[in-house]
Amino acid sequence: MATDIFETRESQVRSYCMNWPATFAKASGPYQWTEDGTRYLDFFSGAGALNYGHNHPELRDLVVDYLANDGVTHSMDMKTPAKRRFLETFERVILEPRKMDYKVMFPGPTGTNTVEAALKLARKVTGRQHILSFTNAFHGMTLGALSVTGNSMKRRGAGIPLTNSSKIPYDDYFDGDMPDFLWLEKILEDSGSGVDKPAAVIVETVQGEGGLNAARMDWLKSLADLLRRHKILLIVDDVQAGCGRTGRFFSFEEAGLYPDIVCVSKSISGYGLAMALTLFKPELDVWEGGEHNGTFRGNNLAFITAARALELFWSDDSFQNQLGERIKELRDGLEKIAEHVPGASIRGRGFLTGIHFPNPDTAGKTAAEAYKRNLLVETSGPQDEVLKLMPALNIESEDLQKGLAIVEESVLAATGNLGEPSRLRAPR
Ligand SMILES: *Cc1c(COP(=O)(O)O)cnc(C)c1O
Repeated sequence: MATDIFETRESQVRSYCMNWPATFAKASGPYQWTEDGTRYLDFFSGAGALNYGHNHPELRDLVVDYLANDGVTHSMDMKTPAKRRFLETFERVILEPRKMDYKVMFPGPTGTNTVEAALKLARKVTGRQHILSFTNAFHGMTLGALSVTGNSMKRRGAGIPLTNSSKIPYDDYFDGDMPDFLWLEKILEDSGSGVDKPAAVIVETVQGEGGLNAARMDWLKSLADLLRRHKILLIVDDVQAGCGRTGRFFSFEEAGLYPDIVCVSKSISGYGLAMALTLFKPELDVWEGGEHNGTFRGNNLAFITAARALELFWSDDSFQNQLGERIKELRDGLEKIAEHVPGASIRGRGFLTGIHFPNPDTAGKTAAEAYKRNLLVETSGPQDEVLKLMPALNIESEDLQKGLAIVEESVLAATGNLGEPSRLRAPR
C-alpha cells in the first residue's frame, strides 16, 4: 500500500530509493542519518559524486559564507571571481604539474552533458559522424551518450534508433581468447570493411556501471597509439573514475595518456554539487561562440567548493599517498571476503573496486543484507552481478574496516553461510 508522497506522487522511474527506502536527513563524512536518527555508513558516495564524503566542513563553511555575502549564484557563462578562482586553481594544481595543456569548457552541469559536448566536438573537428565505444560502456542518459552506452535496458529507453556509433570489445571481453584490437585494427585498414572511419573512440578506464571491468594500462596505451596512427580522436570519459577515484586525479595518468578530449563531472565540485568539465587539446577548440550552450554552466557554489577541494586534496602528494594505503586496505579486505565464495573474484581499480560473484544474484542479496546492517553499497554490471564499493576517498581506516566487516557478514548471510539470524544485527 502506498503510504508516503514519494510513492503516491513521484514517478516509478526512481531507482536507488527502491532498494534503500530510508529517508536521509543528515550527512557528514562517510555517514548519513535517517529522519529518526539511524546512522548508515555510505560506501556508495553518490555514485562517485562525493569523493571527499558528505558536507566536508571546510567546503560547507565556504558555501555558507559565500551565500551570506550575496555572492553571485547563477551566472550563465559570465565572469565571476568564483569562476576565475576555479580556473586558476585547476590550471595550477591539476593541469600544469601534469604538463596537460587543455582548454576547459563548461558544458551543462552533468556527466551526460560533458559526454554530449565531447561527441559533438569530435564530429565537428573531424567532419566524421561515426563514434566507436566499448561493450558494457556507460556514458549517460541523453541520446548521444546513450548511443555509445552498452546496457540494453537503458538503450531501449531512448525509444528511437541509436545511430552513428558501433561497439567494439573492451579489454578482456573474450577472456584472453582474442588478441587485443584484432578487429579494430583490421577494419580501420580495410577499405572494404564497411565500417565508416570514426571521428572518435570513447572509453572509460574502469567501467563503473558496466561491471567494474578495469582496462590494463598496456591496453589503454595500445588503444591510444592505434588511434593516433589512424588520426581518430581519443575521448576518455573520466566522469566516475576521475577526481581521484582510482588513486590519481585522472584515471589515465598511470597509463601516461594525453587523451584528445576528457570528460569530468561527478566529484569535480568536491561537494556533491552539479558541475562538469569538457577538457580538450587547444587545437581542437573550433567551437563558434554559443554553438554549445546551457543555462546552468555557471554554478558558482560548485566553483568555490571545487577550487578549495583541489587545493585541500591535490596541491601536494600527501592525500594521494594516504589514498594509496587505503586502496591497499580495501583490496586486501575484499580479497579475504571473496575467499568465502568459490569462484568469486575482485574487479576494478582503486576505490572503484568490488567483488564479482559466479551467481549473479549474490551481489544484490549481499547489498540487501548490507542495507539491513546500515551500510549503503550498490551493484554493477549487466546482470548486477558485481558488488561495487565506493567509499569516500578520505575515509578513516577505522570506518573502512567497519564497512568491510559488514560486507563480510552480508556476503555470508547472502550465501547462507551465517549462523543464527539473531547474529544479523551489526553493532552500531
Ligand atoms: C555517471 C556517469 C555518466 C553520466 O553522468 P550524469 O551526471 O548521471 O549524467 C557518464 N559517464 C560515466 C562514466 C558515468 O559514470
